[in-house]
Amino acid sequence: MSIALVLSKSDRFTAEGMLDPALSRVELTLRGNLDETADLARVSTYLSKLGEGLKAVTLDLRGLVVITSAGLRSWITFINALKSASFDVTFSAVSEVFLERTSAFPQMLDGHAWTVVAFEAPYYCLACKKRVVHILKTEEFPVTPEAPEPPARACTDCGKALRFDEVPEDYLGFITRMRSSDRRRS
Ligand SMILES: [Zn+2]
Repeated sequence: MSIALVLSKSDRFTAEGMLDPALSRVELTLRGNLDETADLARVSTYLSKLGEGLKAVTLDLRGLVVITSAGLRSWITFINALKSASFDVTFSAVSEVFLERTSAFPQMLDGHAWTVVAFEAPYYCLACKKRVVHILKTEEFPVTPEAPEPPARACTDCGKALRFDEVPEDYLGFITRMRSSDRRRS
């Protein structure tokens, strides 16, 4: 039986976790606003108390909707704590707001052994004047020396091709960084 944890909870921010019975793997779900009220220090203190058996941390960041500069600072402290503990870090899902910030602050998504499985990607239909957020999997992107290209998506209303609504080399740059850090490890 997994153990459910509520690690931090306020009006604006929650951090919940599921811990496996062997205490070796924890899945954390962060939601809301990453701002000065988001108590990530409490989360990393809890993880450090779990002891040396804890090897892997999975982070679901799909629910993060706001990241302030105070939140960014506490995030960097948090990710550095995970890094110095040498956890295998998997980002099961990353929100658009989070990923937008990583082009200026790549260290938000950088660690000893880390993988991004899926992430939000914004598209726009010029005909319907509508923005749509798709979930993309990093494994969809071919491993090539070229910069990652956003995969084609069609509008569900009019069937026309959607335009990627971000600068691909900035927004998708983390894929190249992730893969080059994989190469350093192996
Ligand atoms: Zn359309």
